[in-house]
Amino acid sequence: MITIKDITILTGIVGKERISHEESELFCYSRDLGNSIPDELLKAYGMLGAEVVVLPKTTEEVSAILEYAYENDLPVTTRGGGSWALGGVLPMDGGIVIDMCRMNTIKTVNQNDGYVLVDAGISWKKLMDRLKNYGLTVGAHPSSAVSATIGGFIATGGGAGTGVPKYGVVGDQILSLKVVLSNGNVIQTDPWNSWLFAGSEGTLGLITEATVKVFPLQEEKHYLFYFDSIEQGTEALQQLSTLEPYHLSFLDRGFLCLLNQAGEHFLERELAVSVGITGTEEELKAKDEKIHQICAAGQSQPEWVARDEFENRFKIGLAFKCLGPSLFVQEIRVPLRFLKSVLEDIAKLLKGLTWGIESLGSDAGSIVLSVMILGDERRELEYLQTFSLSAAFGSLAKKYCGSVYGIGLHNAVNMRGIHNAGLDVMRDIRISLDKQNILNPGKTTHPRIPGFFVYMFMFMMKHAPFLVRFILDTMKYIPVRFLRFAFGIVGGNIK
Ligand SMILES: Cc1cc2nc3c(=O)[nH]c(=O)nc-3n(C[C@H](O)[C@H](O)[C@H](O)COP(=O)(O)OP(=O)(O)OC[C@H]3O[C@@H](n4cnc5c(N)ncnc54)[C@H](O)[C@@H]3O)c2cc1C
Repeated sequence: MITIKDITILTGIVGKERISHEESELFCYSRDLGNSIPDELLKAYGMLGAEVVVLPKTTEEVSAILEYAYENDLPVTTRGGGSWALGGVLPMDGGIVIDMCRMNTIKTVNQNDGYVLVDAGISWKKLMDRLKNYGLTVGAHPSSAVSATIGGFIATGGGAGTGVPKYGVVGDQILSLKVVLSNGNVIQTDPWNSWLFAGSEGTLGLITEATVKVFPLQEEKHYLFYFDSIEQGTEALQQLSTLEPYHLSFLDRGFLCLLNQAGEHFLERELAVSVGITGTEEELKAKDEKIHQICAAGQSQPEWVARDEFENRFKIGLAFKCLGPSLFVQEIRVPLRFLKSVLEDIAKLLKGLTWGIESLGSDAGSIVLSVMILGDERRELEYLQTFSLSAAFGSLAKKYCGSVYGIGLHNAVNMRGIHNAGLDVMRDIRISLDKQNILNPGKTTHPRIPGFFVYMFMFMMKHAPFLVRFILDTMKYIPVRFLRFAFGIVGGNIK
């Protein structure tokens, strides 16, 4: 528990302008942009929430904060743009939230060798805008680039987004990271051991600086095809991925309809496939012919429409959230060769609900599906039933040799099923780097509540949500610290 003494010492490190323990701020820092989880569910996870928020500006400040937290056994949750939906930034055990957004400078742009050195809290959009002045751009970046930080995308694995089908996942582009370990020690990685921290979700160390590859801006060409048949559309996507496009994504009929209800103007067909290529004039010409051959069954749109859709990629993801008002997001990564069957299974699973799918280009013949289900957390029973679908998405992905895209809080319980004995290795690595378990406790390798209870809860949510409602209502009267004590007894990871 954070004391007045802790706050005084942390204030000494960052100064009184960059620390807060005001209630309204602590509330915001105890939520993320993801699924609007009812407070009772967060309580059911035994979440204590942020107790103090600090906004460091330098690696030295981060190091001093972590050294103090380590010595005093205080939990630390790192937060970039908070744009991830899996509860990774929720401070489950209270303690300190480190908001990285003040660490946002570009330190070096090396045009000759093609890299930049940046603070990890800078957003991808800001970096890309600045790089334009040098005739450069980044490789992989997320469609949440306006708020997502470099550190956040690296920490979540950066396996899908624009640039990924051409340049590979974000780990392929890291030359070096500056990482502050849980005890405050600072290390500098090389391209190989940087991989350890890609996808580590704030559990192995805090990334404060990143040196990443950049690429010359090239000519671009964009395409948009509408398909009346899912079969033809998914077949085209599979073939398009072999051309190493810069951008490859699709929207399904549900997504297109919801966009139109929110005031956009799309044709309502089975799939809208969007492709972007970059390269020299000859390369573009050669790919242009192939793209038209592959998409011959689709309805081609003028280039300005396709380019417009590409330019809008940072806005489209949440464009119809207002219709919910809650949006429940599930993300899975699946091989493109199974896409048609995956889409059919999702349609069966979500029968009766209002939903749409946006996809994010991935590498190695895969695609990430971002399934957005409209909901309203004020209609509690219905919301709980929707929430219970997360386990089914994990199984669906596994059935088609895929996996959930990201772990965070909500998918931690699936880790054993995904990694089997590999989970023990991951736990050993985590424990060796963070003996006190202060970094993002209760996430990824350390599931909050044992699987048996979660699956039982999910089962009840689906088949007897009124019973879950009753349990959650009863929990209101039980102090959260008592719940945490009980979870600890049954094997939950409670710090
Ligand atoms: C509209 C929309 C579009 C999206 N598009 C994509 C997409 O194309 N591709 C994709 O992969 N994801 C996408 N996402 C998900 C999310 O935006 C990305 O994962 C993003 O990169 C997260 O960055 P962030 O700075 O917001 O991280 P946060 O949400 O703040 O944090 C995510 C995790 O990383 C950890 N973390 C953050 N910063 C650091 C750091 N400096 N050091 C160590 N750990 C850290 C946190 O503790 C947390 O566990 C999208 C989300 C939305 C809402």
